[in-house]
Amino acid sequence: MKILVTGGAGFIGSNVVDRYIADGHGVVIVDNLSTGKKANLNSKAKFYQVGIEEADLEEVFKKEKPDVVNHHAAQIDVRKSVAEPAYDATVNIIGSLNLFQQCMKYKVKKVIFASSGGAGYGEQIRFPADEEHPLRPLSPYGITKVSVELYLYFYATTYGLDYTILRYANVYGPRQDPLGEAGVVAIFINAMLQSETPIINGDGTQTRDYSYVDDIVEANMLSLSKGSRQAYNIGTGIETDVNELAEKLSNLVRYKGQLKHGPAKPGEQKRSVIAPGKAKEQLAWGPLVSLGEGLRRTIEWHRHGLTRT
Ligand code: NAD
Repeated sequence: MKILVTGGAGFIGSNVVDRYIADGHGVVIVDNLSTGKKANLNSKAKFYQVGIEEADLEEVFKKEKPDVVNHHAAQIDVRKSVAEPAYDATVNIIGSLNLFQQCMKYKVKKVIFASSGGAGYGEQIRFPADEEHPLRPLSPYGITKVSVELYLYFYATTYGLDYTILRYANVYGPRQDPLGEAGVVAIFINAMLQSETPIINGDGTQTRDYSYVDDIVEANMLSLSKGSRQAYNIGTGIETDVNELAEKLSNLVRYKGQLKHGPAKPGEQKRSVIAPGKAKEQLAWGPLVSLGEGLRRTIEWHRHGLTRT
């Protein structure tokens, strides 16, 4: 089938593209390269450098007429979303609506949307959070993810556009940008490999559900044929705090330097962990890569400075 992947030059999107191509699908990438990289582009995919919020997006749909749209393009920087909420909404909400309007016009059958468990549920009241947990995002970024989920429900019920929403935990793995604002794993590995002291924000007891990108990719593959009009948590259900993560990485990298604590980041979530039971039951999906193994593979990738694996 022909799949249009937005954000296909980015960390997760490019890994998804590689899998779709390996499985024999035709792939079209839409990315404005704001954080994505040309080096991440799969040479077998057709690439259009265009923003999802731009009117030119229609030209891509007119030419390519995709069957499925896999939507990963987004402004992902939580701090930027707080500083510039209108810009954040322009990309994440207005851009998504521009995309969905094209989906309607050019008769796309299904949208797979990269949402966020961590940002959507906010400070949790249950651990791990299942899909019925209240959605109380603490940032404009989280609000955009929840909003787009609601819009998808609207497009499905009003126009019959099918969708699957994947609410990711904290994703890590090859191609995550250590220079970006997100991705503590990439930031720590990069620092340790350069013998720079990694800084743990606050006391390091904040927890996250670290999920390896290959497991995330698998959920995107399964969603091509399953999960109609559903939202799924895609995470491990395992909570790891930053101190433990830093220790694990130190051992794997054989980093002999110090680990330092810096000031806590204001507004940072304290605990985040999501329950993958629904995805196990309905998508036959489950996390296969343990944290130790995922970190080992990610370090390997950073060590060799690879762009493509
Ligand atoms: P990323 O920054 O590597 O990927 C985003 C991609 O979108 C980049 O290639 C960027 O150039 C592109 N993009 C940004 N604005 C665009 C625009 N206006 N038009 C076209 N392309 C644009 O980030 P990522 O971590 O790979 O995230 C991918 C998706 O997964 C995002 O939607 C993000 O919200 C979601 N997500 C990520 C995580 C995580 O832990 N990384 C967790 C939950 C959800």
